[in-house]
Amino acid sequence: MGFPRFYTDQAIEEKVIIAGSRAHYMRNVLRLALGDHLCLFNGKGGEYKAQITTLSKHELTLDILEYSDQNRQSGLKIELGLAVIKRDAMDTAIQKATELGVHKIQPLFCINNTVSPKGIDKRLRHWQEISISACEQCGLNILPEISSPLDAQTWFEGDADLKLIASPEAKQNLHKLAENPGNIFIAIGPEGGFAAEEVCDAIDKGFKEINLGTRILRADTAVITMMSLSQYCWGDL
Ligand code: SAM
Repeated sequence: MGFPRFYTDQAIEEKVIIAGSRAHYMRNVLRLALGDHLCLFNGKGGEYKAQITTLSKHELTLDILEYSDQNRQSGLKIELGLAVIKRDAMDTAIQKATELGVHKIQPLFCINNTVSPKGIDKRLRHWQEISISACEQCGLNILPEISSPLDAQTWFEGDADLKLIASPEAKQNLHKLAENPGNIFIAIGPEGGFAAEEVCDAIDKGFKEINLGTRILRADTAVITMMSLSQYCWGDL
């Protein structure tokens, strides 16, 4: 639509009121003014062209002008099982995975996790915020789901057409796979890597080990690489 995009968790009907820090950001940081147009979405699908019709210090009113059912999701459903890694790397991984069209992110507790599970609910809300900002930026109107962290070996049991675990010890490259999946699982390990028993368990539960070259990538780089290669092979890149 070419207008600045904003997420709201409200139902979008004829008018929407934006208050608090969002209103402050729109008015004082982006300098949006009375009469300006913007694009609003609430993660349930589609987007709305809206116009600012009242503007006060703490609140703005948006009149909803037009609905579009635009959906920029990839046809390839990717569920990313991502070890809980250090704050900045996790934020980058979530932001980039969202931009690259992930459908669901499942944070994982692994044997070699170095990050404490303390305060995980707060971190989960923070990860959801990161993903929402990425959707505002990249044009996605349906938010990826980000679930509460799960033990890796439990997540390995899930069903998908193709299940991939990135492991530097693997012999196989992704582009050599003769597959045409509609949905895939991708597992990325923590800073210390998946433990050998986790990799064996994943393979027992149907995962294929994938090598991403001779260099060891940071986990957030591995996320970007696996997401890009998968979208290139079977999705919309
Ligand atoms: N020393 C760790 C190991 O050997 O697994 C390095 C872990 S790396 C920083 C974090 C995660 O990124 C790994 O668990 C793996 O999922 C992925 N990764 C990094 N480089 C990779 C590569 N060259 N091939 C496959 N996966 C890789």
